[in-house]
Amino acid sequence: MKIVVPEEIIGISAKLMSAGHVSFLVGGSLRDLLIGRAPKDWDVATDARPEEIQKIFPGSVYENEFGTVGVKTGSEDPTLALVEVTTFRKEEQYSDFRHPDSLEFAATIEEDLARRDFTINALALDAKGNIIDPYEGIADIKKKLIRAVGDPNIRFREDALRLMRAVRLASELGFTIEKDTAGAITRNSDLLGKIAAERVRDELIKLIMSGGAKEGMEVLEKLGLLRYVLSELREGINVGQNKHHVYTVWEHNLRALDYAARKNYSLEVRLASLLHDVGKPRVKQGDGPDSTFYAHEIVGAKMTSAMLNRLRFPKKVIDHVTHLVRHHLFYYNVGEVTEAGVRRFLNRVGPENLEDLFKVREADRIGSGVPKAFPYKLRHLEFMIEKVKRDPVSPKMLAIDGNDIMLALHIDPGPRVGWILGVLLEEVLDDPTRNVREKLEARARELSKLDGSKLAGLASSAREHKEEFESGVEEEMKKKYYVK
Ligand code: ATP
Ligand code: MG
Repeated sequence: MKIVVPEEIIGISAKLMSAGHVSFLVGGSLRDLLIGRAPKDWDVATDARPEEIQKIFPGSVYENEFGTVGVKTGSEDPTLALVEVTTFRKEEQYSDFRHPDSLEFAATIEEDLARRDFTINALALDAKGNIIDPYEGIADIKKKLIRAVGDPNIRFREDALRLMRAVRLASELGFTIEKDTAGAITRNSDLLGKIAAERVRDELIKLIMSGGAKEGMEVLEKLGLLRYVLSELREGINVGQNKHHVYTVWEHNLRALDYAARKNYSLEVRLASLLHDVGKPRVKQGDGPDSTFYAHEIVGAKMTSAMLNRLRFPKKVIDHVTHLVRHHLFYYNVGEVTEAGVRRFLNRVGPENLEDLFKVREADRIGSGVPKAFPYKLRHLEFMIEKVKRDPVSPKMLAIDGNDIMLALHIDPGPRVGWILGVLLEEVLDDPTRNVREKLEARARELSKLDGSKLAGLASSAREHKEEFESGVEEEMKKKYYVK
């Protein structure tokens, strides 16, 4: 097998050796080269101590406690710009299932390979092109197996993040987890609860962003890890649906994720596809072909937000995914929805979310196993959206704002300003030609004459009216899909 090592790595290796050290290409980069994938990052292992590495590579960065020095290569390839050069380390003592208690350097590459997690990650390539493979990692690459180095039970107890790494690597590489290793994962699955949520999240993100996302989720469940990651999804296991579905809630969610992964959609769209029906088991009524799931998108959105918060996803991601889950169920029928209705729809979901929302809808449709004749309707909705695209659909797009109203009507900040704006927006959604400063100001003057309760009442019915297209959804769904 001919392995092509980039110039940048050869250069680093040459410098280490001319300073009297040894140097090996190790870790995921060597594994990926052997598999024939493009490495995401490059790792070099050496007997040089961090201080020595820094001397050999002026300008390198050493900002951690793991003996890893970041060497800048000036490469234009972003994966090679910073190469991690790490001093050989020993097997360490772990008392918190995650961090070694102390860092001990090792003298040989063999010792260093022994501390690594899986056989396919415990390979080293020397400067002459020889591969050091004490744990038969190459054979496991050929067999497409993830196998722990040494006793899997001990290895997972040392560092419980390896539980997630095993499944994540399996789904990224399309590998299977070897039997004893899989057994040890199940036996130690509860240790995942001891791992910082952020670490679990980062592995979950890699798993979901991989081509084998669906299989990865299935393995998480099969090995008993899912309950510590996204336990609510498990509620859908064995929960049958109605006549519009052939799959259980669980299988349907996974198939939607699979579609989003195959289309190479973003993390947010993949998460929303995976979680879009997570609320269904909690609202299910009846059984068999006529069972219903009213308000599952509302319950599901709450569950989604709770799950992603628990895993410490960034607020922006949580809000976006929750919004997509909340609005995934829009129903549109040609001829039934007016332009004003489409403007209200845009007001509710936000024009900037449309693209992702349509992707989730598509994943839902394909994942149902019985795709309905929706694309035509979707195209028509897109056509309608195009038509009303320039119309005002949000308070920001009104020709006047709260300040204008306060100035023109000489009133102080307070709920009245919000009520007036709400009514104005509702009227503009109905008829965009009203979105002219003078007209809005005159209408605001009229509204301001109303007493508080009258005005508040108008504002709240405006709000309800905005929801109409959506509750229309529910009525339509009941009529068309659920009730005999
Ligand atoms: P990726 O493709 O995500 O970079 P990787 O296997 O390279 O996967 P890294 O986090 O870059 O993962 O780690 C580099 C190497 O360090 C691994 O290949 C493995 O040999 C070793 N390693 C990483 N994490 C652990 C761990 N938790 N326990 C033991 N060895 C580990
Ligand atoms: Mg790596």
